[in-house]
Amino acid sequence: MRLKTGDTVLVISGKWKGKKGKVIKALRQSESVLVEGVNLVKKHQKPTQKLQQGGIIEREAPIRACKVMLVCGNCGKPTRVGVRLLEGAKKVRFCKKCGEVIDK
Ligand SMILES: [Zn+2]
Repeated sequence: MRLKTGDTVLVISGKWKGKKGKVIKALRQSESVLVEGVNLVKKHQKPTQKLQQGGIIEREAPIRACKVMLVCGNCGKPTRVGVRLLEGAKKVRFCKKCGEVIDK
């Protein structure tokens, strides 16, 4: 999986296709991500001290990483991510469209 928290991604398939958002959390084990404003599901919230009313709230549910594409910060296009090895065995991700390194 080549997505990280803070990446901007575009949903490319499913119900949320075309929606763009920021990765809130990358879940490596399940190869999925939580994206801000994407894949919202209604959840029943029990009343707590903070939220005395309880009721139904909307929360992001994880979406499979294969359903989203990273949006390159340089060229602004949804792109596949390549990985390049730098000196000292450091790995960086790069945009396959414009070649720009994503991790600075
Ligand atoms: Zn690019």
